[in-house]
Amino acid sequence: MRRLGIAVGLSLVGVVAAAGLYLWTLLPTPGAARQQVRDDVVGVLAGRAYAYLIWNADHVVLVDAGSDPTAAAIVRELAAIGRRPEQVEAILVTHGHFDHVSGIPRFVNARTCVCQGDHQLLRGDRLPSGLLPRLFGHLMPQHILPPHVQALLAGTALTFGDLAFDVIATPGHTGGSCMYRLRDVLFSGDSLLNTGAEVGPPPWLFSDSPASNRRALARLEAVPFTTIADGHTGFSADGRDRYERWLKANLEPDAPAPPR
Ligand SMILES: [Zn+2]
Repeated sequence: MRRLGIAVGLSLVGVVAAAGLYLWTLLPTPGAARQQVRDDVVGVLAGRAYAYLIWNADHVVLVDAGSDPTAAAIVRELAAIGRRPEQVEAILVTHGHFDHVSGIPRFVNARTCVCQGDHQLLRGDRLPSGLLPRLFGHLMPQHILPPHVQALLAGTALTFGDLAFDVIATPGHTGGSCMYRLRDVLFSGDSLLNTGAEVGPPPWLFSDSPASNRRALARLEAVPFTTIADGHTGFSADGRDRYERWLKANLEPDAPAPPR
């Protein structure tokens, strides 16, 4: 009986280890720890996810805040441009998964902008429905209670002097996922990830509704951008070409041809 128990126990450990290894292979591979996207846009690997620092003479803004609660990498990059964490004015959150929001409390004066559907997720009041994010949510419960939260609606424009961001709702990865566009740069969070020379949605295990995510991606055709800066691999200067290829390969096969 005891031997049987040991055998079952060892088998379970083997299954869990194999599942863990498999899941590990699905994780997107990050690029360089620091990514200069534009003169005034830098990507910083902050723990397991990228945060993007954007600034002009009078304003400093972040897109996402990474998985590291100390936000050390972001604070170092701020110092390099002569700014302090207290000067970060806003954090534009692409979605409420813990690996994109854990650094928020480090920026005490920033207002946190999040699309309405992810407010509860951000606070830890609700768990994500995607299989893996839900598991991580159980393992790492988050209680991020930013003092200044602005719930965003699609189509909102956020301006910080000459930095003007469009808010684009892209529900699917989470219910309140959104992207931000600054000039020709699209900050895509996890909804659209660079992989090798292509882009596409994340593996289905990571998303609440992969089908909604794909539909949201199809709607990006009308959005003018050239560069994609995502939450886990960095940026691609040829993001538009990659996106067009993805779109072509994923169009409904029986969709009517566009009028000539
Ligand atoms: Zn995510």
